[in-house]
Amino acid sequence: MKIAILALQGAFAEHEQMLRQLGVETMLIREHWEDASGLIIPGGESTSMMRIMRDDGLFEPIRQAILDGLPVLGTCAGLIMLDRNHLGVMDILAKRNAYGRQLGSFNTKADFEGIGRVPMTFIRAPYIEEAGPEVEILARVDGKAVAARQKNMLVTAFHPELTDDTRIHELFLSLVASQND
Ligand code: GLN
Repeated sequence: MKIAILALQGAFAEHEQMLRQLGVETMLIREHWEDASGLIIPGGESTSMMRIMRDDGLFEPIRQAILDGLPVLGTCAGLIMLDRNHLGVMDILAKRNAYGRQLGSFNTKADFEGIGRVPMTFIRAPYIEEAGPEVEILARVDGKAVAARQKNMLVTAFHPELTDDTRIHELFLSLVASQND
């Protein structure tokens, strides 16, 4: 199993470190798409990530690979990248910078479907303001959806790679394993 991590900008190194800790081989994607068992789109700035992806010709190959069933984990800006207005692969609409100025960044703990209580680090984070019927909401904070799954796509509005809890990554790896069976 080899997991590709989109490394154009943002918090990709922390995902790499967490996967290494779990004994998983990783590959950083910067200039061209290379086939992998799964893909992580990290947090960062969705507008810059979008522009670089288009400039580097990564937008279409990645969009197509996800539509063909590539398992993908999108965290924070990565969640935004998968929504209807960006890559357009997941039937969600993200509300960007959704927590206002005072609550721009915060840590909390909340229940995550199938896992239990997990620590969540939010940094100028989005939440999911609309979700289609195929989307399963996996966690809420203050009533707002902050994690979801649709088929091969798993998203969190928070940064699981910035805590020392590896369970979200393990959930993603089990999704990858089931898709590659
Ligand atoms: N505010 C960023 C955006 O809108 C997301 C922040 C993050 O990924 N930590 O793209």
